[in-house]
Parts: sequence; C-alpha cells; structure tokens
Amino acid sequence: MEAFMKFHSVGQGLFYEGTLLQDKLPCFRFVYDCGTQQGKPMLLPALNDYNIRNDDAPIDLLVLSHFHLDHFNGIPELLARHRAKLIVFPEFNDLDRLVLIAQILKSHLSSQLKTEYIDIVLNLEAFFEEHSDHQMMIVGEPEERLADDFPMPEFGETYRTDEFDWEFFASGKAPRKITLAKTFVTISYAWWEFKFYHTAPTATARANYQQTIQKNLNGNSVSTVFSDSSLLKKFAASMKGKWISKENNNSLLLYHGPKRQSAYSVGCSTDCKCAFWAMGNCQRCGNMRTGSLLTGDFENLLADWPMIVQTFSQNRIDNIGFFQVPHHGGQDKFTAYNFAHCVISYGVKGSYYHPNGSTLTNIAHSPTRLELVNEYHDFCYWILL
Ligand SMILES: [Zn+2]
Ligand SMILES: [Zn+2]
Repeated sequence: MEAFMKFHSVGQGLFYEGTLLQDKLPCFRFVYDCGTQQGKPMLLPALNDYNIRNDDAPIDLLVLSHFHLDHFNGIPELLARHRAKLIVFPEFNDLDRLVLIAQILKSHLSSQLKTEYIDIVLNLEAFFEEHSDHQMMIVGEPEERLADDFPMPEFGETYRTDEFDWEFFASGKAPRKITLAKTFVTISYAWWEFKFYHTAPTATARANYQQTIQKNLNGNSVSTVFSDSSLLKKFAASMKGKWISKENNNSLLLYHGPKRQSAYSVGCSTDCKCAFWAMGNCQRCGNMRTGSLLTGDFENLLADWPMIVQTFSQNRIDNIGFFQVPHHGGQDKFTAYNFAHCVISYGVKGSYYHPNGSTLTNIAHSPTRLELVNEYHDFCYWILL
C-alpha cells in the first residue's frame, strides 16, 4: 500500500492532490483546492502534470477549502476532464456569494475571466450538479445557523451522523446532496481516513460581518444587488478591504492519513521507507509521521487549536508529518508545532507579500522542516505502508 501526495507549483494559491495505490495501481484519488491568484496560465503545467498521471480518471474526493479565487479558479478546468464522485465544501450562502462576486469585480482579472468565474459562483449548485455524483456541505453549529437573519441554503437532506464509509457513497445509496450541520466529519476509504474540521464564526464575528455587508447594501436587498451590475460595482467598491477574515476562517480543514498510525509505523520504523522526492534524502528527514493537515486559508489556528486537537485527537495531531501553513504563511502569529514538515504555498511574484517574515522566523526556530512551494518549486511525498 502506498500513498502519493503533491503540492503543485502554482504560485500564490493552492493545488494539492493525493493518490492511494494498491499493488502499485491507483485506487483512490483526492484533490484539495485548485487555484492561483497569478492567472490561469500559471495553473496549466500543474493541470497538465495531473492529467498525464491520472489520464481522465474521476476524482474520488474533491475538497474545496473555501471559494476564494486562489483556491478555486482551476476547478472548472479540473472538472472538465475529471468527474468528481464526491465534492466536500464549507457553507456558502447568499451573503458569501455576494461578497465573493464583489471581490472578483474588484480584482485585476480580465473581463472574460471575471465573467466566467462570476457565472460559476452564481450557479455553483448547477455547476456541482453537472460535475459530481455527490455533494456534501459542512456547516457550523445549527444553533448559530438558526440565529441568522438569512435563511439556510436549500441544500437537500441534513445528516446528523459524522462518520461515512466510502462504501456508502460507492453503493449509490447515499443521497446526492448532504448537508452536515456539524463542525467535523470523517470519511474513510479502506485503510485511509479523511477528517474535516470546520467552525462557524462566533456569533459576534458573524453579526459584525453581516452588519458591514448590510450597511454597504445601502438598503437594497441581496437579490436586487445581484441583478443590478451598477449596484454590484458600488457594493464592491465600498466593501474593499472589509471582508477577508470571515471567509478565510470558513476554510475547511482536512486531516488525512492511514487509520492505524501505530500499526503502520512499526513497519516504517524498522526500515524507513519514507521517500521524499523534493529532498531526495530520507536520512535527513527521519520523519515517521504519516498524516497530513491541510488548512486552506484558516487564520484562527492558535485560538482554535484546542478544539482542533480535540476533533482530530491527540494521537492524530502527533502523527502530522506534513502541515500546510495557513493563509500562504501570512499568519504572523503562527507557531510551528512539532510537525515534521511545514509547507507554504505562495507566490514569489504574488502581490500579497506572503509568507510573513515572523512566520518564517518561527518555523526556522523550530525543529520543523520548511518546504517552500511557489512558481519554481513543488513538493511531493510518498507514504509506504
Ligand atoms: Zn482565502
Ligand atoms: Zn489563499
């Protein structure tokens, strides 16, 4: 049994893929985000690389951390060639949609790309419907949702369970759309587990966010602003710089790794089989940890860390060998826990000045290895079990 994982070279953005192999043959493929802030041509070599290795095989599990362009704009190209069996994404309501469209309008994209992206955002349900067999939306605590002035998105059946076996989806018995009013959920495929963590913003943060938007709607309803491009442009202009935190903290975190870490690492410890392509030197690494934690653009890491540890369990946290540093290393309060590798996906020529200097310093002063993924470098790793 093997697993192959890759952080693609996409500049300011994130495109992460994983493949589980049985007897050297791929049996399960997953992708976490696919996008870049630096224009679609930046994605083409990475998409090409993905296509060469995966032909037109479906993506068993596609996870979207959140809907910012730098994590999402490659999805149409990816799904044009590879059908998704299951798409998992965090709550995305009309307010989020409105803010996202305003952001796109204010961005430096070509008008053709703007139109294309806005079209997808406006018709996200239809787009997912067309390209996937199942969709699962993970939302925060139901109590907080009910307190909203804005209705829950109409999204099919709500499930209360937090454990899914892959067989459940493969059997065809699972409903096409599932809404999970849960902060976390586990999906397992044979010997591999995927654990999600998602938290709704606090009631105060949510109220502030909604208040800011309401104020800038200038008494218009959300649907009016949607349908009037000059109102939308005005809204976009007035919202500049006011929206980042809530959406980034809406990012869906994903831990994945083999289910029985201890049993597998016994095999590993007698003969270190971790082959790190990017370094080509496994003795330098000495890493025996087989789990990965992907964080999208989550910025609340320190505040939420106790909950995250509780959700994933201490033993999984101790098994994190590969940690994607949140928000492209832009979080200056970031502290490197004792992970084996900290991966930062950023753009050398990106306009966001990531990664943050103190983030780099914190990692440099920790026992963690720093892996920089950008326009010039990708980072691949294998887990052999
Ligand atoms: Zn973001
Ligand atoms: Zn981002």
